[in-house]
Amino acid sequence: MPRPILATVHLGALRHNLQRCRAAAGAARVWAVVKANAYGHGIERAFGGLRGADGFALLDLAEAERLRALDWRGPILLLEGCFEPRDLELCSRLNLWHVVHCEQQIDWLAAHKTQQPHRVFLKMNSGMNRLGFRPAAFRAAWARLQALPQVAEVSLMTHFSDADGQRFGREGIAHQVQTFVAATADLPGERSLCNSAATLRHALQRQLGPDGRQALAADWVRCGIALYGSAPDHPAHDAAHWDLQPTMTLASRLIAIQDVPAGDSVGYGSAFVAPQPMRVGIVACGYADGYPRHASLGQDHGAPVLVRGVRTRLVGRVSMDMLAVDLTPVEAHGGPCHLGDEVILWGRSAHGPVLRVDEVAHAAGTIAYELLCAVAARVPFAVT
Ligand code: PLP
Repeated sequence: MPRPILATVHLGALRHNLQRCRAAAGAARVWAVVKANAYGHGIERAFGGLRGADGFALLDLAEAERLRALDWRGPILLLEGCFEPRDLELCSRLNLWHVVHCEQQIDWLAAHKTQQPHRVFLKMNSGMNRLGFRPAAFRAAWARLQALPQVAEVSLMTHFSDADGQRFGREGIAHQVQTFVAATADLPGERSLCNSAATLRHALQRQLGPDGRQALAADWVRCGIALYGSAPDHPAHDAAHWDLQPTMTLASRLIAIQDVPAGDSVGYGSAFVAPQPMRVGIVACGYADGYPRHASLGQDHGAPVLVRGVRTRLVGRVSMDMLAVDLTPVEAHGGPCHLGDEVILWGRSAHGPVLRVDEVAHAAGTIAYELLCAVAARVPFAVT
């Protein structure tokens, strides 16, 4: 018997979420962001649901090779561009578009001997202060690229630091849009600005004036997390608000049940003490499977979980290979629990209810991106 833990990728949900992003993007084409092994879903598996995208955006050449091996002949964009000069050779061979965010990458291009000129996205640092040319240096970088015989096409992009509006509301994105538009107004080339949050929060456009509208409705959007069923502005909104479906279910089973007397503790550090006699289910999932240890730390701090489709919570600390759940609400609803009963850590229960990965992430003080990407290599995957 294999250990009872399984991550299932839902292709129909990926297709649905892609449609949602497409609808929000209007006329813009959609880069499906599949970096980090498709946010933990597996590039090959996710491709089954996302093949309707206009292009795929990712980080490393190995992932690009895997996409080409799936016979994807459309656009692929390297979001951080080349990490060393010899990457350019593979970019040519795989026919990749790549981001140029610094002078050194332009130097490499200028020195590169190629038969096939490159398509690049020149990146502006419009306020994120991560990658890209500052607005004042952007035009010179553009002119340098434009003059290179190695470059066939220069497109323009930037990335928002506060697209979910959590820090600055509408102001954060508006400021970056205005910076970008002001510095690029008379430059030709396609544009890409929006990630999932900016794409879905389309209503923002109305606040931004004609320049902002034009910029946000640019030629390409780059959607990642929304494709994977998480609300990019959680907890302000949940995924149901954006009509996004869960694309991954992490499921396990009860492997032991303990009758815990009042006053006894559960798990390491005795961090949870039973306030009354209770039945506690032990589940075959721990932090070595990628489940966040911080999802349960103390007496009143336990992430939600579904047992047989009924919502309950973690008790005690998450250990390496196991976690513990309170069976009280489950048994009150449907009678005694048994070994082998279904436990959903996030995703869709066979009994119907859904537990959003956003909720679990929130309880663990993190974001769904981290949980999805962290599912461990030892967890087997299935596809539905
Ligand atoms: N564009 C860039 C440059 C990114 O780095 C990312 C992800 O971090 C995305 C788009 C996709 O972002 P999201 O997953 O929030 O849609």
